[in-house]
Amino acid sequence: MKKITIAGSGVLGSQIAFQTAFFGYDVMVYDITDAIIAKARASFARYSDIYLNDVQATRTAVEAANAHIRLSSDLKVALEDADLLIEAIPERVDIKRDFYQRVATLAPDKTIFATNTSTLLPSQFAAETGRPEKFLALHFANEIWFRNTAEIMGHPGTSRETFDAVVAFAKSIGMVALPMHKEQPGYITNSLIVPWVTAALKLWGGDVADYETIDKTWIIGAKSNLAPFVFIDIAGLNTAFNITSTLATTTNDPQLHQAAKRLKDEYLDKGKLGIASGEGFYKYPDPAFEREDFLRYK
Ligand code: NAD
Repeated sequence: MKKITIAGSGVLGSQIAFQTAFFGYDVMVYDITDAIIAKARASFARYSDIYLNDVQATRTAVEAANAHIRLSSDLKVALEDADLLIEAIPERVDIKRDFYQRVATLAPDKTIFATNTSTLLPSQFAAETGRPEKFLALHFANEIWFRNTAEIMGHPGTSRETFDAVVAFAKSIGMVALPMHKEQPGYITNSLIVPWVTAALKLWGGDVADYETIDKTWIIGAKSNLAPFVFIDIAGLNTAFNITSTLATTTNDPQLHQAAKRLKDEYLDKGKLGIASGEGFYKYPDPAFEREDFLRYK
């Protein structure tokens, strides 16, 4: 594989693009408008600083990564000569279905398609891709540079060749490849994490406690600084909202309905999307949970 196309330049798409370019691949990033693409360029500048400071990358390596990335809002141009397409567009069945129907005809025959979906299954889109044997899920974690897992999950029609090629690709960009034997909603990671975040959102949505109190409980009780609302800020409130509203509809849980409404009214509608926008539940830089007095007892 040489040329990798990433569709969607949001939280995850921009990270996958930068990591892939950092490991020497030619990367093409596709998003729907030029204005959104301009924002992606700002993300790459941010990742350049992170790779310099936290990954101890050299300036030459970071410059080379940036030089390997091209961007386009023209899907046909973005797919030209692609060996692998990694889809990181919104977590909505209708949007992804429509996208796969379009790329089925636009992409070269050789292109392998991989979805980065968090909660859906590749079998839900296999028919739309027009190449079910060349389609699977390749799931990255947020903050890819230090949470370097890649869950690889085929659907029953994925070929062994495609599966092995994607495992090899994941390793070649510095990921610990986590091959799965069968389809599982939420993979391994989200089978663990989604119930955890959902439980926190239900407590907050149903006004059982405020989010800082819930986070403090977790930080002390689980002896882990990655508290649920800190995690949601990192993951992005859009994704949290999409997952919560889908679950609210399927379960009809009143606390989840309240959480979805509050996420929309109090955060998304006010442009508070998480770390990426400078504010989510906490304000960045210098969020309250990092302050010395956050856990003080008197
Ligand atoms: P996001 O909202 O930050 O970004 C989505 C991007 O897709 C936006 O830039 C948007 O303009 C673009 N987009 C919208 N419609 C499109 C279309 N038709 N074609 C191409 N691009 C389109 O979302 P995200 O958090 O990056 O999530 C993207 C995918 O990655 C989802 O499937 C999500 O479940 C998955 N994922 C997210 C995380 C996370 O922590 N945020 C982790 C793992 C996987």
